[in-house]
Amino acid sequence: MNRRDFFKSAFSMGVGLVGASALKPLYANDEMKEFRGPDVPDVDAIKVSERCYSIPAMGPHPTPENFGMFSNPGFIVTSEGVVVVDTGSSVQIGEMILRQIKKVTDKPVVKVINTHFHGDHWLGNHAFVEANPNVEILSHQDCITTLKNGADKFWFDFMQSNTNNKITGTVITLPNKTFAGGEEFTLGDTTFKIHHFGKVHTSSDIAVEVKNDKTIFMGDMVMRRVANMEDGSYLGSIKALDAVSKMDLKNIIPMHGTPDDMKLILEGKEFMETIYNNVAELYDEGLSDFEMKPIISEKPFMQNVASKWPGYDSAIGKFIVVAIKEVEQNMF
Ligand SMILES: [Zn+2]
Repeated sequence: MNRRDFFKSAFSMGVGLVGASALKPLYANDEMKEFRGPDVPDVDAIKVSERCYSIPAMGPHPTPENFGMFSNPGFIVTSEGVVVVDTGSSVQIGEMILRQIKKVTDKPVVKVINTHFHGDHWLGNHAFVEANPNVEILSHQDCITTLKNGADKFWFDFMQSNTNNKITGTVITLPNKTFAGGEEFTLGDTTFKIHHFGKVHTSSDIAVEVKNDKTIFMGDMVMRRVANMEDGSYLGSIKALDAVSKMDLKNIIPMHGTPDDMKLILEGKEFMETIYNNVAELYDEGLSDFEMKPIISEKPFMQNVASKWPGYDSAIGKFIVVAIKEVEQNMF
């Protein structure tokens, strides 16, 4: 199901069954704090490199059974505290992340980075403010702007409806500091570099490179999954993944799917190129999206690699439609 279908089902189902109050996003100090969805069961973090960890998703899409835990939050343990990359879809997931961090280190979380504005990457923020009121929450400025323009409530409602209101109690907490991309900072024994490549998966994507470990957290700019491309750019993705492919990296950590080496970046780039270049060519020949779909699906990369990714069958048609729009925009 695509995002719009999710949203439609959110409205028809959620409001009728539970009333508007449970769907209303909470801000700090709102009432109803005692009314909460259930805790999320522990998922052990995977150690990817000396300092970097990834907590694997419980499923490819948000459902009541997986509590909306469908992306992989990450964290980096430095000698001066922990940096968290993405906080999951709810305060309950944020709390679960904190429990996994405690299994690895006693150090506090000092920074939280939200890689972009999609709700599975920031709705857990409030758990980290409760644990450390001085925590810095960082994102690209476009992330904050988009959330303030209504994406905050959209994503809260989206997660509520897809989890059968299990994120109830989540307090919307926006980032309080920004990165523009290009920043380098050191925390104790660890040096970080922040990357922003323009519009890739969204206009707000941040990648977090941990220099000492030759490891990068990619947000949703690459994933072995076919999902939401409506806010993204094919040409932007190809350009960004090309740039990352030239960096000196051992581990690539996506927020959906499993960590890997540079092969993940090269596959992601080939996927975007296969769709965009073929759509551009077939568009010139006058084909419509439903005529393009079987032709593109027969390309060797799609047959051998991409068709095995979660979401391929349901989302590939939508991907082609989005690519056509971008081809049209670039004609003038
Ligand atoms: Zn996303």
